[in-house]
Amino acid sequence: MKPHSLLLLSALAAASPHPAHQSPLGPTSPESIIDASPFLSFHRDIVQIPSVTGTEHNVGTFIADFLAAHNFTVHKQAVDTGRFNIYAHPSQASNPEILVTSHIDTVPPFLNYNVTHPTNAADTVIAGRGTVDAKGSIAAQIFATLDILRSAPTAPLALLFVVGEETGGDGMRTFSTSELNKPYHTIIFGEPTDLALVSGHKGMLGFEVIATGHAAHSGYPWLGESAISAILPALSRIDQLGNVPDGLPSSPKYGKTTVNIGRVDAGVAANVVPGHAAADVAVRLAAGTPEEAREIVRAAVADATGGNPAVYAEFRTRMEGYPPQDLDVDVAGFPVTTVNYGTDVPNLEVREREDGRPVRRYLYGPGSIHVAHGDNEAVTVGDLESAVDGYRRLIGAALQRD
Ligand SMILES: [Zn+2]
Repeated sequence: MKPHSLLLLSALAAASPHPAHQSPLGPTSPESIIDASPFLSFHRDIVQIPSVTGTEHNVGTFIADFLAAHNFTVHKQAVDTGRFNIYAHPSQASNPEILVTSHIDTVPPFLNYNVTHPTNAADTVIAGRGTVDAKGSIAAQIFATLDILRSAPTAPLALLFVVGEETGGDGMRTFSTSELNKPYHTIIFGEPTDLALVSGHKGMLGFEVIATGHAAHSGYPWLGESAISAILPALSRIDQLGNVPDGLPSSPKYGKTTVNIGRVDAGVAANVVPGHAAADVAVRLAAGTPEEAREIVRAAVADATGGNPAVYAEFRTRMEGYPPQDLDVDVAGFPVTTVNYGTDVPNLEVREREDGRPVRRYLYGPGSIHVAHGDNEAVTVGDLESAVDGYRRLIGAALQRD
């Protein structure tokens, strides 16, 4: 995106609350493209309401009101004070079998909605926080569902828009253990996948590495015990655990398990022998279970430190881990890919069906994960519109299985 076009648009937006009607760019101005489409206008409306995790209330209210106005029965499921999930089904279909879901929270900071002047309508670029992750998915899911309900008003569908996906999934976990979590035969998750069906994503394991020492004057280091000296061999070993034969496993589907030592906190000053060191580690698992990975990490720390009891991996203080998540890709006409990011998929426990039919789970949505958490988060109108069609096809295939 060119900075000067952004400046021009901000100037236009500042000059008039309704730039589409007064814009010197005329009838093909980007704003008029948005205004002319109920779908793109809804996407704009929900992007313009900030919803950084913890502050989802207002966008939740907006979406709930929109669905109620379109003949959905809407449940606001409390997650904590002022925060709720939205669960909605067509008023004429109270036993949903297909769940279509995404998340209404975004990462910080809020970034203004902004449309750049297109060469043609489909290439119009819509920028702003949440345009991709995941309000593009939400808008496309809702409009695909509305399309389907026009010809099949009793289609057994439910929509679920949760809070808290970006910080551990408290919204989805609340839904998962509630009675609204029924034995659906199909669950469609919306996240940025570049319009590909995702055949799975890696698992996750978080932990800390902690070393305790004994502070002393740095001129007399033999009077203390350096927690940093103690932790270093453990960290160098952990750093390579995805790259060595006896380390964390790889798989043909997901490639290597990767390790990120994302934060280290140790010591107080250059002239003090450090009494404490701690590191925060995130592992993306390509194979195996979190418990197997914990054993490998424990053994690696013990081996690298010669069994030093002052250095250890602490798993209790970090979020629950989960194994790689395999997903379904049996609907024709989509590119297929794997992704490396985490989603709410593992937070939604699948309820087995009495008829023994397999439960299918899909992950699909517009926009690229590569911009999703960046200050350049943006998506094209063409991708958003393709996603409406993509969700329509996924829901259509699920309805055919009834
Ligand atoms: Zn997301």
